[in-house]
Amino acid sequence: MDHLIAEKISSICEIKENYKLSNISSFKIGGEADIVALPDSIDKLSSLVKFAESHKIRYRVVGNASNVLFSDEGFRGIIIKTSKMNKIYFRTNETLVEAGVPVTKLAMEVSKYSMSGLEFAYGIPGSLGGAVYMNAGAFGGEFSNIINYVNVLVPHKGIVTIEKKKCEFGYRDSWFQHNNCIIVAASLSLTKGNKAEIDNKMNNYMFERMEKQPLDKPSAGSAFKRPHNAFAGQLIENAGLKGMTVGGAKVSEKHAGFIINDNSASSKDVMELSERVIEIVKEKFNVQLEREFEYID
Ligand SMILES: Cc1cc2nc3c(=O)[nH]c(=O)nc-3n(C[C@H](O)[C@H](O)[C@H](O)COP(=O)(O)OP(=O)(O)OC[C@H]3O[C@@H](n4cnc5c(N)ncnc54)[C@H](O)[C@@H]3O)c2cc1C
Repeated sequence: MDHLIAEKISSICEIKENYKLSNISSFKIGGEADIVALPDSIDKLSSLVKFAESHKIRYRVVGNASNVLFSDEGFRGIIIKTSKMNKIYFRTNETLVEAGVPVTKLAMEVSKYSMSGLEFAYGIPGSLGGAVYMNAGAFGGEFSNIINYVNVLVPHKGIVTIEKKKCEFGYRDSWFQHNNCIIVAASLSLTKGNKAEIDNKMNNYMFERMEKQPLDKPSAGSAFKRPHNAFAGQLIENAGLKGMTVGGAKVSEKHAGFIINDNSASSKDVMELSERVIEIVKEKFNVQLEREFEYID
């Protein structure tokens, strides 16, 4: 990227130039982005987006990059990472949380005040923004259950509040996936609970994750969405695909729903392996799997 442009962006917020995206991705895959920008406030994010829009510079927003696969070729433009927008405001009837707050940290934080509702999210390695965008869920809970409203930055318009009923939450789906906006904060509705019970629930969930998921290997979690009336992992296992590899990418032997970066996998390896899994499951069971993680190039 042009040096003067990079300098201008660095006057708005912290940046890293020619930065390897494998360093920030849970898959540990990805070539260099021209710029990774780390705004630490909503104002700085707004200025950054305004600058990028007016100079026609491509940009993409990520939180913890735990549900994305970056291309081996990297990204031409700006990857905006929200992790420094990480304030939590406790108010009487709501908890207002900035997009970059990691949801596992958030679950721990609210449990200190005996606030219940986020236990399910303990162990999800995403940010609040990414979790709202994906309507992330686990153990029977999902973000849609606890959202009051979401504040988004709409390019050329500014900050807009999207009330829960307009969020169009579905299974791993939300309004935000279909409209050009950046989630900057969300208001959560949590209830007063019993701290010991909350902590106990969270510990059990974490234990279950550690038992069932290949957490020792880089991945994006479940690689496929749950198909109607079935479980992707079960179908993949029944198709005999556990342990299948393409290059360094592998269908986890511990949990067939996970594609892991077993040995310096490239993004091409992961995409090819996931394609083959989709094809074979379709052939054997006539079920169409859909990738859950997003490819960014
Ligand atoms: C080991 C492991 C376990 C996992 N377990 C679960 C689980 O139990 N349940 C589950 O649902 N998911 C799970 N995931 C997947 C992932 O953690 C979730 O989807 C999470 O919500 C993604 O958040 P993120 O901040 O990492 O998003 P990213 O990966 O950074 O981004 C995901 C998508 O959200 C968009 N996005 C991110 N932030 C914003 C924002 N502020 N505004 C607008 N768009 C935004 C990105 O552009 C991208 O399209 C798991 C992943 C791993 C690696």
